[in-house]
Amino acid sequence: MRIGVDLGGTNIKVGAVNDKGEIVFQNTRPTKAEKGVEGIVKDIIEQIEEILQRTNISREQLQSIGIGVPGLVEKSTGKIIHLTNLFLDNVDLGQKIQAYFHKPIFVDNDATVAGLAEKIAGSTQGVKNSIFITLGTGVGGGIIINDKVYNGGHGWGSEIGHIVVGENFYDCNCGRNGCLETFASATALIRYVKKRIEEGKKESFILEKVGGKIDQIEGKTIIDAAREGDILAKEAMDRLIQYLAIGIVNLLNVLDPEKVVIGGGLSKAGDFLLNPLKEEVQKRLSFKEVTYGDIVLARLGNDAGIIGAAFLGENV
Ligand SMILES: [Zn+2]
Repeated sequence: MRIGVDLGGTNIKVGAVNDKGEIVFQNTRPTKAEKGVEGIVKDIIEQIEEILQRTNISREQLQSIGIGVPGLVEKSTGKIIHLTNLFLDNVDLGQKIQAYFHKPIFVDNDATVAGLAEKIAGSTQGVKNSIFITLGTGVGGGIIINDKVYNGGHGWGSEIGHIVVGENFYDCNCGRNGCLETFASATALIRYVKKRIEEGKKESFILEKVGGKIDQIEGKTIIDAAREGDILAKEAMDRLIQYLAIGIVNLLNVLDPEKVVIGGGLSKAGDFLLNPLKEEVQKRLSFKEVTYGDIVLARLGNDAGIIGAAFLGENV
């Protein structure tokens, strides 16, 4: 039996996962970032202990523990380099859990974990090479090559959110300008709409949807407005799709995966996002003579974080 831990900005979800990729038992606690790394480690350990007790899994039967985190990770050592939302920088999370359980521990970013889960039980089952792109607060990436998670030479690779795809009106958290994350995340979508409203773009009912409160605009507000034909919302979505397509074509040219999977909050827009994205990618492809990978939506929901984490370090 394997344990998967989904350490998110809001909740820590832990589950025991069997060989088929099914969660047999899970529990959730709110993430108490204010308690710092020791508090989070303590919660994770207690949650795992509870699962072992409730499922009668002995320490010997426990094969490994995998942890997915929302940020930059040195996968070879399990060290968290930077977590934007949890303020945990330079923390040896993997080592701390390992010191308690004395089992193999694998730590990776949440997009890689979600990509791995899709391969086990979702839209890339049986697919050897795939790229997972998550469009949420930021843009995350996970790469699977020859059935294995690709970690890179120093263990921190697959930072798709920071490939540069253009020039933008604001800088990325990483300090540079033009990162995919500043064009294709929910945050980026909202920032662009707010900027256009503040510039005096009038032909839009987005503000009406949030009772005139500009700070209450969410990604979903904009997607809904675009569906209803709002001109500004459509402009913002078109812009997002354009830059996302540039990023995807770059990745297709470098890695030639069979599939690119789109997940994260914005992917809930479904075909409304996928179809124009596919068209835009098609227009931008470099060579007409070769076969390119298909773009699909993620199939798994909330459990992907636990399932994928449990299988980190495995060939799937
Ligand atoms: Zn960046």
